[in-house]
Amino acid sequence: MLFTYDGIVVGRREIGDNSCFIDILTDEQGIVEATAHGAKKMNSALLSSASLFSYSTFCLNKTKLRYTVNSAKPKYSFHEIGSDIEKLALASYFAQAVKFCTPEEQNQDSMVRFFAIALFEINKAKRLETVRSAFEFRYSAMLGYRPDLRACFNCGCYEHDEMFFLPSRGEIVCGDCFDRDYGGRYFVLPKETLSALRNILYAPLDRAFRFNISGDAAAVLSRVTESYFLSHTERTFPALEYYKGIRIDNIV
Ligand SMILES: [Zn+2]
Repeated sequence: MLFTYDGIVVGRREIGDNSCFIDILTDEQGIVEATAHGAKKMNSALLSSASLFSYSTFCLNKTKLRYTVNSAKPKYSFHEIGSDIEKLALASYFAQAVKFCTPEEQNQDSMVRFFAIALFEINKAKRLETVRSAFEFRYSAMLGYRPDLRACFNCGCYEHDEMFFLPSRGEIVCGDCFDRDYGGRYFVLPKETLSALRNILYAPLDRAFRFNISGDAAAVLSRVTESYFLSHTERTFPALEYYKGIRIDNIV
């Protein structure tokens, strides 16, 4: 039986000299693993579409529980990410994240578009750390871990000189309402950081990655989004550790 999906290759494993398994991120089925026969041959019609981060329309043949790539038509290539080791490392972390966290065989609203935007932003980014934060926080929300950052949960104020984020509760609370004996984990958010988090969460997908932040506020943003994503997905990602290890500018 044939199925056609638009998707992005987020994983690839070699089989023998000529073929490979590819993991395709799709909106319809989450991650689909398919065999791409002969994809490594130089004259293969699948050579480009079966490469990592290729965005293509895949026609898949399903027999029992296995998919095979019947044909593929490239839509967009992010191959230039591979020419920059930091960008490649960050894209690999995103790929590992969606591969392990996206539910299988469930419709994923706008997931392919979100991932394509993330790769596009990596490609042209000057500050990879803000791209990473936007991905971690918005993707957490897409997975169902959606905090409420609209206002202090107690008094409803939008801004305050001191604003605290309680990640386990997914809430913010102002300095007047915050229980100073609170025993759980919390972050003190600079105004710029809260504004960036609100943009990531509430802006349309194509603007979620667009915000300016610098200095200490950017450093807090990185800590908040990484902690939020890893604690809610209850995972570690070797690709994230690799990315952090090779960053030339380890100071945000
Ligand atoms: Zn309050």
